[in-house]
Amino acid sequence: MERFKGPTLFLIALSLVLGAGACSKQPAQNTATHGAGPENPFSYPFVKQFHLARRADKPYGSYKAFYLLTEDFEPEVSSASDLESIRDVLKFASELSSKHGIPWTHFVDANALAPAFLSNDPATRQQCRSMIDDLARMIGRGDDCQLHLHGLLDSALLDYLKAEEKVHIKESGLAEAQTYRQRKSFFFQSFYRRGYRDLVASLTYGKRFLEKTLYPGKKQILAFRPGGWDHGATSQDTLLYFYALSESGLIANSGLSTGTFGEADFRVGNDPGHNIATVLGGEHRLFEVSPTAGPGGYINPVLPHDLNKLSNSAPGEMAVIVSVYHLGSLQKGQASTEHPAKSDTQLQTERDTLENHFKTVAELAAAKVVYPITLRDLLEIISQMQEAEASAGPRQPGG
Ligand SMILES: [Zn+2]
Repeated sequence: MERFKGPTLFLIALSLVLGAGACSKQPAQNTATHGAGPENPFSYPFVKQFHLARRADKPYGSYKAFYLLTEDFEPEVSSASDLESIRDVLKFASELSSKHGIPWTHFVDANALAPAFLSNDPATRQQCRSMIDDLARMIGRGDDCQLHLHGLLDSALLDYLKAEEKVHIKESGLAEAQTYRQRKSFFFQSFYRRGYRDLVASLTYGKRFLEKTLYPGKKQILAFRPGGWDHGATSQDTLLYFYALSESGLIANSGLSTGTFGEADFRVGNDPGHNIATVLGGEHRLFEVSPTAGPGGYINPVLPHDLNKLSNSAPGEMAVIVSVYHLGSLQKGQASTEHPAKSDTQLQTERDTLENHFKTVAELAAAKVVYPITLRDLLEIISQMQEAEASAGPRQPGG
């Protein structure tokens, strides 16, 4: 597959894409905002929302919505006891999945696996290796793991990975810093602090690291979720972000955010029916499978929400509901500057709330309302549908 090689070609491609979008005949989306209003990546010219058809001939054909239970796996891993605690949480999470038939999609912060290879403490190293084995076993039972980072890969981890395997870093362009509407997290920490090449290096090596540790030689990491929902502040940032994902071999993203971080208009993802999209075209086509927007920014399994109502898709369409959790919030002794460590009672209450969520989803699945699925499997379904549509002939504009 040939890709743009140098910055000049990249910038030409960038202006073509942006220019093409400006005069696109695409009908206005109901989420589009031009002029006043919050910055909305779902209205960027290179992001085209689409709807998933409900296919009567498929196992999910009589359901209303897919349900993706995702979580950002970013536990505290500085000591053997931190790791013992998160391993206990993984055991609980895995039992919930087995009992209720609902898989997790874990967005794994690659830096959380580093102690297995780099810790000077043998007990920490061993526990971290066991935690990796736990995740691999969960994959064996139907879970999915994808990549998550809040900034660059830890430099010691990057050095370790580079010494193990030299991966060619693709690099095509740079952008100027501008005012920043987002939380200064993944894109800001990597791109604005260190540049495009380091951004692509962290994604490329992070992806390879998870593939080697979690899916040895079997499957690829396909998707990324940006830490802090930070995929850049502007349309141009976000296009560079998607180029970086593409050049790292990733084909999907889960986490566009609208508005200004810290203000009332900030929102993660979008409503069902508007949270999936193709991004760019041709060689650089990626998929966006965004979280479902909800109270607290997104649908969180332990906060109030109405999955039944969210599943009400248009006739003939499958809605995609994507919730977001953090298994680290069940970890013992995980205190931060904003939040003190939770008591055992609080931790148990949160476990119970999560278990209730699993029960609700299992009931809705039994009633053929939601169809629990991993991101990996959903991406497969989307690819097959789009290939079938492409071979069926020309489509309606914006269809
Ligand atoms: Zn995160």
